[in-house]
Amino acid sequence: KLIKEETERRVLFNKYQELKGNIRVMCRVRPPLGALEEDRAGMSFPDEKTSAEIVLAGPEERSSLGVVSRKNYPFEFDRVFMPASQNEEVFGEISQLVQSALDGYNVCIFCYGQTGSGKTHTMSSDDGMIPRATHMIYDTITKLKEKSWEYTMEGCFVEVYNEELNDLLVPNERNAKKLEIRHDEARKQTTIINCKTVKLSSPDVVETMLSEAQKNRSVAATKANERSSRSHSIFILKLVGKNLATGEQCEGTLNLVDLAGSERLKHSQAEGDRMKETQNINKSLSCLGDVIEALGRGSGHIPYRNSKLTHLLQYSLGGNSKTLMFVMVSPLEVHLKETLTSLRFATKVHNTHIGTAKSTKKIKGGD
Ligand code: ADP
Ligand code: MG
Repeated sequence: KLIKEETERRVLFNKYQELKGNIRVMCRVRPPLGALEEDRAGMSFPDEKTSAEIVLAGPEERSSLGVVSRKNYPFEFDRVFMPASQNEEVFGEISQLVQSALDGYNVCIFCYGQTGSGKTHTMSSDDGMIPRATHMIYDTITKLKEKSWEYTMEGCFVEVYNEELNDLLVPNERNAKKLEIRHDEARKQTTIINCKTVKLSSPDVVETMLSEAQKNRSVAATKANERSSRSHSIFILKLVGKNLATGEQCEGTLNLVDLAGSERLKHSQAEGDRMKETQNINKSLSCLGDVIEALGRGSGHIPYRNSKLTHLLQYSLGGNSKTLMFVMVSPLEVHLKETLTSLRFATKVHNTHIGTAKSTKKIKGGD
């Protein structure tokens, strides 16, 4: 009975998602970190019940009469998480979406925001979305066995740095083989050639993967934190299921993406390698925006090929896919300008309507 309820809930969720379109945006405000961060921006959350709005007080402006005032900037998303919210609550809001990868959807969840806004805390920390999603999917797979569904779950973890794809599960010095992206048009699936893939036969393996990735990153750069804020990391979970009784098959992918810091460094301040890095980050983030915008317009040509990130995620953006973007913001006054820029970018994404996603679930013998 429990399984039936669970299945019905997922069917309902997929219907609801079809109605609302397949792109969601949620905002998360991190808390101030200790006493050093007293300098709070004017932020308010007018509708605590539905928690979908955030209002920012803009910079102080002085009128000709000398009156100081601040303009309000309201924003609305599918959900706004206030500073006190925990990863558990955040995961609760996305768990249905995560589970739809088991129904044969390609799902993409991004964390977007300036460096220090809480992307890694939300996505790849020990209690972040990556381990939570893996554990939940594992539990569901175990339950679905009773309904004759057999699933395999495989993970890989890569980064895009300077428009190059690197394997985060292989120590850098041995990472000699170049990773290559292969698309399978018919299956709407992507494979990364030469990439280390780990079978997640137990959900605990994911913790090992996360620490391995962390270690390999630190080896790759002396300033590991700096490097990680200047690259996109993508955790890819592949789910292949087969119903032993009916012969139904399905294949879904869950991509959990921790994007490079969105702060726009001025080109004039950067030189040499830094300059190239900066251009690549700016380019790939704006390309992500362009792809989403083109999908929303229903354009015939989607510029996936303009960056490594969108090329890799081609089948998880638009078409047969569901997308969620977390826009992460800092609560501090000093970050007000970046926060406004991030929320404006997120608003554009939020205003985009991307049509119906189709599950790749197949009846044996069907097309
Ligand atoms: P980013 O990946 O966006 O650069 P981090 O996730 O590394 O940012 O967050 C910066 C700092 O803030 C870290 O020390 C992190 O632990 C802390 N932090 C971020 N979000 C939260 C939160 N929701 N609750 C508590 N601490 C947080
Ligand atoms: Mg980070």
